[in-house]
Amino acid sequence: MKKLSILGSTGSIGQSTLSVVQSLGDRFAVCALAAGRDLDGLVAQILRFKPQLVSVAQESDVPVLRARLRAAAVKLPEIAWGDEGLIAVACMEGLDIVVSATVGAVGFLPTYKALALGRRVCLANKETLVMAGELMTGAARTSGAELLPVDSEHNALHQCLRGERLDEVKRLILTASGGPFREIPIEKMREATVKEALNHPTWQMGSKITIDSATLMNKGLEVIEAGWLFGFKPDQISAVVHPQSIVHSMVELIDGSIIAQLGVTDMRLMIQYALTYPERLPTDLPSLRLDQLSKLEFLEPDIERFPCLGLAYDAMRAGGTMPAAMSAANEVAVAAFLDQRIRFMDIPRIIASTMDAHNTEPCSSIESVLEADRWARSHAGLQAGAQKSEIPISLVG
Ligand code: MG
Repeated sequence: MKKLSILGSTGSIGQSTLSVVQSLGDRFAVCALAAGRDLDGLVAQILRFKPQLVSVAQESDVPVLRARLRAAAVKLPEIAWGDEGLIAVACMEGLDIVVSATVGAVGFLPTYKALALGRRVCLANKETLVMAGELMTGAARTSGAELLPVDSEHNALHQCLRGERLDEVKRLILTASGGPFREIPIEKMREATVKEALNHPTWQMGSKITIDSATLMNKGLEVIEAGWLFGFKPDQISAVVHPQSIVHSMVELIDGSIIAQLGVTDMRLMIQYALTYPERLPTDLPSLRLDQLSKLEFLEPDIERFPCLGLAYDAMRAGGTMPAAMSAANEVAVAAFLDQRIRFMDIPRIIASTMDAHNTEPCSSIESVLEADRWARSHAGLQAGAQKSEIPISLVG
């Protein structure tokens, strides 16, 4: 039986992971769970999976959780909190697998430490590799840790590359749904509301990644993530818009052959693959009905409409701490948009302004990455504040 912990257990990927674990019987034991502020969700998970250690985001939630577990007459797990709690859940003694499924920079240190300890990391937190791919992959190489992508595109690439020689690969082709704003006039995009941006056409996901999908920053982050996972340069990685989200990604080989992975849009498929690799196990997911697919479209992304994708390529080419600064600025801008403090097209503007002002340093240590992250958050935060006066009253609400 493999022992696992989950960073971000009450989020979308965390819940799907537990559903996969449950469906696989006694192959996996859930030893530790780190949640955010969803105590209802966490209590239900503790009752079902009985972990020895759990963590919550805030210290004030610790006594609340303890009281609720006492009331439920359940054996109390150890309860930690905050950044230290996340690290404890990633580093708990005896773990085989850590599922890294928090959103944003908060997952960076715990994921790094799990890799340094030689654990298999099933990675759903793409910001982690974007911030410090060099350090992450270096830690994995040194300890012999396996880094298995859960992100659907990278999971698909991993599947396409099974048995292929990397020197026979010409390029990686990441597919993007194009989000909800693929076809509306650009002027309308400027006025897009939070509700419209959260209305993703094909995938059900958390709010940060859904906004990233609407700006195509998600694809930009994934291009950088793919570069680190598989060792490819920016000009060897393409993104194509594929509105049906059936082809999860493709690999073009040097002879011109293209290998693709197709499947239903359900993250449990990718999570199970990452948990059980190199084994493949049956799932109860429905088969993809090829006879019911009326068409598969592939379109060039429109960089004018989606400047975030171009910014991500720029950050990847700049290297060093630039991707960390870009990702931090994006987190701040997306949070400001979700708070209705800025407009949709202010997101790329704030990221570009932060990147322009950033002094790229080599990605030489954890501290240099965290410093770039802090600097970019502060710069982007000021920018997001400065935009406020331009927002119509009805949007501030
Ligand atoms: Mg993805």
